[in-house]
Amino acid sequence: MKINARQLEQVNNRITALLNADSFYGKKLREAGITEVNSAEEFEQLPFSEKNDLREAYPLGLMTAPEEEIVRIHSSSGTTGLPVIIPYTAKDVDDWGEMFKRCYEFAGLTNKDRVQITPGYGLWTAGIGFQNGAEKLGSMVIPMGPGNTEKQLKMMMDMKSTVICATSSYALLLAEEIQKRGIKDQICLKKGIIGSERWGEKMRARISSELGIELYDIYGLTEIYGPGIGINCKGQNYMHYWDDYLYLEIIDPVTLKPVPDGEWGEIVITTLVKEGAPLIRYRTHDLSRIVTEKCPCCDNRFPMIDIIKGRTDDMMKIKGVNVFPAQIEEVLKSFNELSSEYQIRISHLDGKDTMRIYVETSGEYDFEELGKRVAAEVKSRIGFTPIVKVVEVGLLPRSEKKTQRVIDERFG
Ligand code: ZN
Repeated sequence: MKINARQLEQVNNRITALLNADSFYGKKLREAGITEVNSAEEFEQLPFSEKNDLREAYPLGLMTAPEEEIVRIHSSSGTTGLPVIIPYTAKDVDDWGEMFKRCYEFAGLTNKDRVQITPGYGLWTAGIGFQNGAEKLGSMVIPMGPGNTEKQLKMMMDMKSTVICATSSYALLLAEEIQKRGIKDQICLKKGIIGSERWGEKMRARISSELGIELYDIYGLTEIYGPGIGINCKGQNYMHYWDDYLYLEIIDPVTLKPVPDGEWGEIVITTLVKEGAPLIRYRTHDLSRIVTEKCPCCDNRFPMIDIIKGRTDDMMKIKGVNVFPAQIEEVLKSFNELSSEYQIRISHLDGKDTMRIYVETSGEYDFEELGKRVAAEVKSRIGFTPIVKVVEVGLLPRSEKKTQRVIDERFG
C-alpha cells in the first residue's frame, strides 16, 4: 500500500517541524540533506528510525514542539540502558484518545459500558491510554491499575463492570480466580480488551470461555502514542489500524525494502500528525503483513494488518524465503492428524539452507504420505518445500520449561 498524496503532505509537514525544531531527528534529516519528499519512491528513501537511536536522544532530544506546548511525557522501559522519553502535546494526547476511542467503538463499546482498567498507570502508556479512550467514548471508567485481585473482583461485582482491560496473563488469572470462587454469576463482563502481549489461541479460548466474553486485541507501542493504534476485527485475526494518523509499511527486515501487500515482514510506522515527537519510518521489529481481503465489519474504511506473529529476531531465511516459526506452527495446526509438538531444524547442506520439520502422529496414519502433505502445504502457504519427518507421538522432547522448537545447526 503506497503512501498517498495526502499522507505525503503530512510527512512533509512533519519533516519541516523536525528541521525547524532541530531536534534529534531534525539534525539527522539536516545532515542527510532532506527537506521534503515528493513521491512514494522518495519517501521509501528516507532513513529509518530505531529504538536504540531514540535512547541517544535521552532525556528530551526528541522534543519537536515548543516546550510550552508539551503537556506530558511517557517512557518506554528499556531492559538495558536508558529509557526512551516521548513528549506529547495536548493535541497528541487528544489524537491518541480519539484513536483509542475508535478501537473501543470497533469492539462495540458504548457510553453505557463500565470499563475496568487493570494495566498500570505511570510513566508507561498503558493504563492512562485505556482511560483516555474510554472517557472520550463516555463510558464509566473504573481505574484500578494492576494487582490486588481481591479488590478487582469486588469492584467488578459491585460496579457491574461490563468490560475488562488487561494483559492476557492478568485476564487469565482473573478468569481462573472467578471460576475458583464460583462467582461467575455475579460477573457482568461482556468484553475484554487485551493489550501488549502476544498470546496464543489456547489462552484466548480459555479466557473467553471461562469468562464468557468476547476478546479484542489492542495494538500499540509507546514510541507511537501507546496502545490503541489498532484493534482486531470482531471474530477475526486481522487488525484495523488508523491510516489517518499513521502510515504503515511492511519491509523485508533483511533487505529493508518494502514487500508487496500480503507478504510478511516487519511493520514500519510513520506518524503523520504527531507534534511532540514525530517519528519517520520507525522500525517496530514486529512481524505482520498487509491484509488485502475485504473486511466484512466496516466496508474497508480502514486498512488491515494480520495479528502480530512474532519479532524479526525470530525470522529465518530458507531458499530465499523469509519464514518464522509462527508461520510453520500455523500450517501444522491445520493438520488434525498431528500432535501439538514439533521441532524445526535449520541446517546448511550442499551449499543451501534447509529446513527439517519433525512432527508427531499416532500409528494410524501413513507417515510418509502425511509428511508429503505437510511439505506440500508449507510450499503452498509459505513458498518453499521443507523436509518433513513424521515420528510416533511421544518421541519429540518435552520439558517443563518452554520447549526449544527451533534449532539452528548452521553455525557451530
Ligand atoms: Zn473490520
